[in-house]
Amino acid sequence: MKIAFFSFEVYPLAKVGGLADVVGSLPKFLKREGQEVFIVMPFHKVVERNIQKYNLKVEKVLDAFKPSFVSTNQTAEVYKTNLPNTDVEIYLVKNDYYFSAEQVYSSPDSAEQSIFFCSAGLDVLKKLDKKVDIIHSHDWQTALIPVYFKANYKEDQFFKDTASVFTIHNLGYQGIFDKKYLDFAGLPWYLYNIDALEFYGQLNFLKGGIVFSDMITTVSPTYSEEIRSEEYGEKLHDVLRIRGDSLVGILNGIDYEEYNPETDKRIKYNYNSSNLEGKYKNKTELQRELGLEETLEKPLFGFIGRLVDQKGLDLLSEIIDYLIMYDTQFVLLGTGDPKYEKIFEDLNNKYPSRMAVKITFDIELAQRIYAGCDMFLMPSRYEPCGLGQMYSLRYGTIPIVRYTGGLADTVFEYNPEKMEGNGFGFKDYKASDFLMACSRGIYFFKNEKNHWRKIIENAMSTDVSWDKSAREYIKVYNETVNRIRNVNH
Ligand code: ADP
Repeated sequence: MKIAFFSFEVYPLAKVGGLADVVGSLPKFLKREGQEVFIVMPFHKVVERNIQKYNLKVEKVLDAFKPSFVSTNQTAEVYKTNLPNTDVEIYLVKNDYYFSAEQVYSSPDSAEQSIFFCSAGLDVLKKLDKKVDIIHSHDWQTALIPVYFKANYKEDQFFKDTASVFTIHNLGYQGIFDKKYLDFAGLPWYLYNIDALEFYGQLNFLKGGIVFSDMITTVSPTYSEEIRSEEYGEKLHDVLRIRGDSLVGILNGIDYEEYNPETDKRIKYNYNSSNLEGKYKNKTELQRELGLEETLEKPLFGFIGRLVDQKGLDLLSEIIDYLIMYDTQFVLLGTGDPKYEKIFEDLNNKYPSRMAVKITFDIELAQRIYAGCDMFLMPSRYEPCGLGQMYSLRYGTIPIVRYTGGLADTVFEYNPEKMEGNGFGFKDYKASDFLMACSRGIYFFKNEKNHWRKIIENAMSTDVSWDKSAREYIKVYNETVNRIRNVNH
């Protein structure tokens, strides 16, 4: 099967959140299962820097062309490189007007940017004569690909046998814009309709992806159910319910080679589940780096993530005083909403010897935190899949989570009688319940060494690898292709 991925983020070339990790690793595992996969992404400014950092070869494969349908004089060039340390090809759509912002998502006009990329991305396939079985696009920035595909390429023989799969990594980001962009996109006006792109008087790109792709996936089984409800559906639950028979939840995995405490070069001391000495040395190192007391007796909690409402930061900020009373330490790494940056900086000033707050984006430090902490906090309001808890599990750092979305599919409450379970959690979005879950963790950490050892063992042996999920994607691709070919022939 031939598959083309379309994404705005691909680790390590451009990373903002979990999307990058997924698109940067899943293709490798699909290839291992015998599939042919390549990626199409924008040539962001940060990509240029990372190409140098990873010393990648880049060659130009297409001279400047104007994307089909789009009302613009801007042109795209296409370059080819490889996903580092793999033979997965990446096609980079270059246009300095749209993709030269410092940050991936800081374009002055993100609607035009997305339209330009979607149209040019499909042109890349035609111009390079890359016929594929599946076009697989990710999140709202590439959601117009299935729309172009169904509306503008319906009769095109080149795509006759191609099916589209669209993955929702986060329903909270939908790409809602003025209807004038339909003209810019060169999409037909009949799409401005409640059954298509129209959404409360505007255009909703993500809705387009949901309505027009042949199959929709999202990144965990629990999230795929939750989003059909009003509570989690972000006003799209009805559309998702209508497309319910084409909506599948497949849990993300993590790259076990890249994220392996036994070999990871980003941490000072390597370790495994039968010998945790290295983990404790990493903890001491981390405490030293953060200016915290160097002790193995106090539990060290970590949080890494975007500082946005989704991540449950209001609950987290509410329990800090109590966590500190339990004689613990806490490190937070993240950037985002200035409101939260200030709340946590203020808390840091209140407890300078017990907390470290790093308002920055630092992948290397993130790794030292995943490895060096005892517990990892994810009290998310909603969490499509979540990768933080997976990295933590892999590095023997016990996740304390709200049981929602992918967190509910990967973290299981520790049961001391059966000695089963790999973490702690709570269901209702309440600070008191979150604190109770933390205090269970603290209790086992401080008083029940044997149980604590077992929880770590259980965490490190939880399978959050890509192998199973990659096979599930292949099943979905096969089913999708069969469906459209049965209709078309
Ligand atoms: P989301 O995709 O909603 O941001 P995920 O948990 O799925 O959340 O993925 C977030 C990814 O981004 C993780 O790999 C996490 O380690 C990383 N990350 C988030 N913020 C930072 C930061 N400030 N520095 C380094 N890595 C970060």
